[in-house]
Amino acid sequence: MGDSLMATVRTLPSIPVPPESFEARRNQYYSTKILKEMLGNLPQDTLKLLGVTDKDLCIPILTYVFGEAQVGGTAAVVSLARLRQEHYGLTPDRPLLLKRLRKESLHELGHTFGLYHCPSRDCVMHLSNTVVDVDTRGRDFCRGCHTVAVSKTGTERRR
Ligand SMILES: [Zn+2]
Ligand SMILES: [Zn+2]
Repeated sequence: MGDSLMATVRTLPSIPVPPESFEARRNQYYSTKILKEMLGNLPQDTLKLLGVTDKDLCIPILTYVFGEAQVGGTAAVVSLARLRQEHYGLTPDRPLLLKRLRKESLHELGHTFGLYHCPSRDCVMHLSNTVVDVDTRGRDFCRGCHTVAVSKTGTERRR
């Protein structure tokens, strides 16, 4: 996540989504069950674990989610499915997809650092219900959210 959190990032081998996370009636995957699977595959020195999947994610009370995270916990998962222009019948746009993925990843990781939704539209922790919201909100933490997140990374530097 660049210099936003000043943490070292390591990529782990992919793991399959657990079969029990599939909700056949909805043709979607229940993100909470994916988080549970991820936590069962946690390397010892993990500060945070971010999963990225192509699967369309949901939770029981919402028709879809861009991602889910344990607030103040270790794991977060984000889905590419509804971040792709193709999902809306538009031409693929890889730079835009990566920009959205970065925002969603930072947002979900923010939750793992104990952050809740932020009222500021310029903050990456602002709630987004649609991909338009993802595009209009800011790409980084506001001052207040950044202070909280960095205080929990253990990498805070005094200047
Ligand atoms: Zn959120
Ligand atoms: Zn904020």
